[in-house]
Amino acid sequence: MSNQSIIQDVFSLARNETQLTGQVSVASLTRLHRDLSDQTGVLTYRVVGRVGDKTNLFIDITIDGSMNMVCQRCLEPVSQLVAVDNTLQLVESEDELDNEEEELAAILAGDNSPEKIVGAKEFNIFDLLEDEVILSLPMSVTHDICDKQLPMSVGEKASPFDALLKLKPK
Ligand SMILES: [Zn+2]
Repeated sequence: MSNQSIIQDVFSLARNETQLTGQVSVASLTRLHRDLSDQTGVLTYRVVGRVGDKTNLFIDITIDGSMNMVCQRCLEPVSQLVAVDNTLQLVESEDELDNEEEELAAILAGDNSPEKIVGAKEFNIFDLLEDEVILSLPMSVTHDICDKQLPMSVGEKASPFDALLKLKPK
């Protein structure tokens, strides 16, 4: 399964403050396949439209479930919880998106207003759900308590890399 789509007019969803709920199979999230230990499972989503201050349009997205991924420490399967809870502001065109400077200024000013996305009358919610799942994952998926160790030769090679990954800002 690939190229799944859930086409919605997200502007009217938000304007009418309606909601969309459903399930997507883990198998349909093709961009995640290489990180999965198997493709079983389903994720439940809810997209709720909302009109905010100054008639700005928002969608609140929640996605829950779990996926069988590969532990980056022991390379065994690990059940990774998915718990997305995010709000996005819909804008009409790319001109209304914040540029990188504005985003940086907002972050420095402690402004945590929602990220903006360009909406559409034929908007593919599926792609957005897949994006949100990917963004919600930790940079390195591991068991909470991972008691298996890699063989020494592999472990020695892997550990400096792990340390580098931890240095990278999130
Ligand atoms: Zn592990």
